[in-house]
Amino acid sequence: MKQPILIVGGGPAGLAAAHALGRVGQPSVLVDKADRLGGAPILSGYAKLVPSGEWARDAIGGMVQRVVQDKLVEVHTGTTVKSFAGGPGAFTAELSDGATVRAGAAILATGFTHFDSLNKPEWGFGTFPDVVTTTQVEQMISSGKGVRCPSDGRKPQRVAILLCVGSRDRQIGREWCSKICCTVSANMAMEIREELPDCHVYIYYMDIRTFGLYETKYYWRSQEEFKVKYIKARIAEVTSDGHKLIVKGEDTLVKRPVTIPFDMVVHAIGMDPNVDNKTIAETFGVALEQHGYLGRGNTYGNMGETSRPGVFVAGAATGPETIDDSIGQGHAAAMQALGIVGPSRASA
Ligand SMILES: Cc1cc2nc3c(=O)[nH]c(=O)nc-3n(C[C@H](O)[C@H](O)[C@H](O)COP(=O)(O)OP(=O)(O)OC[C@H]3O[C@@H](n4cnc5c(N)ncnc54)[C@H](O)[C@@H]3O)c2cc1C
Ligand code: SF4
Repeated sequence: MKQPILIVGGGPAGLAAAHALGRVGQPSVLVDKADRLGGAPILSGYAKLVPSGEWARDAIGGMVQRVVQDKLVEVHTGTTVKSFAGGPGAFTAELSDGATVRAGAAILATGFTHFDSLNKPEWGFGTFPDVVTTTQVEQMISSGKGVRCPSDGRKPQRVAILLCVGSRDRQIGREWCSKICCTVSANMAMEIREELPDCHVYIYYMDIRTFGLYETKYYWRSQEEFKVKYIKARIAEVTSDGHKLIVKGEDTLVKRPVTIPFDMVVHAIGMDPNVDNKTIAETFGVALEQHGYLGRGNTYGNMGETSRPGVFVAGAATGPETIDDSIGQGHAAAMQALGIVGPSRASA
């Protein structure tokens, strides 16, 4: 019996790693602290994903099905790793469900934590019920109920989406760009306009980072085809006049104050380091990078390495990542781990 590879985290990155290993006949043990697999897209109820336009429950749900049906993958949900000892080719992990796993290598695919908008109180979340987050709007869309104001269930006539909430914000210790929220927000704006054609949607931004090919499909299309309005602004606060939400700030293109009333304000929340990262780093003996994500040992030569030989990392555990990049990194980490437990390299 081949030694399995331990995979921690069953989101897109961990699922990709387990599937890749299964395809080459390599057993793995997949551990996730949540009570079901799928990671953020499933646990947070995302709607249609960018850039594929597929529903998260179909796209990522399909990845979950593929893994749970694979006899080479032993799944432990509702489980964490309590201890981890040994070296490459001979690790021992104690799981919180009482199981002991002997593994040749480990892959950490433990992902990220959504930014908690309560840490940005001046923008109204937690004070006004109609100030919501992108994940809440994703859930409204994926549940089929549609985009409605939580306070009274009415259809909003004006929606503001505020970008960079919990990202690129030194004041609250979050300097990083979360990479995907501009694109997700442009897509969400188009979905709102499609469902509610009379609703005006404004996107407040510092810079637009619909990187690569997303520029045409999301940034330009949202403006030209869906008439979404973009305002380059520095936002001061979100308040209420008792009837409407009021977004106050400065239009930084014309350098004038701008105050607009809205029915709903959406925070495009960023990707924080996983709140467990300190514990994960201690348990697995791996280093964190400066912001608190799991550190990468080597970016080019051996992608997926951590500071500890035999322990690899993939996906949003390493910093904000898209789903497709997380999947790519899951495959890369699987390949690295296989290099430890798999057939030895044929002599050249
Ligand atoms: C609002 C929003 C919308 C987004 N929409 C898109 C989109 O449309 N397209 C796109 O490409 N990207 C999107 N993203 C980014 C996407 O969520 C990530 O790219 C993706 O989830 C990363 O996958 P992952 O497997 O690395 O991590 P995760 O999805 O975070 O999965 C990590 C898994 O590890 C588990 N875990 C965590 N800690 C532990 C632990 N200590 N022990 C055991 N298990 C643990 C978790 O339960 C989870 O199942 C969006 C992000 C946000 C914030
Ligand atoms: S992707 Fe856009 S919204 Fe997200 S942090 Fe970067 S610039 Fe801000």
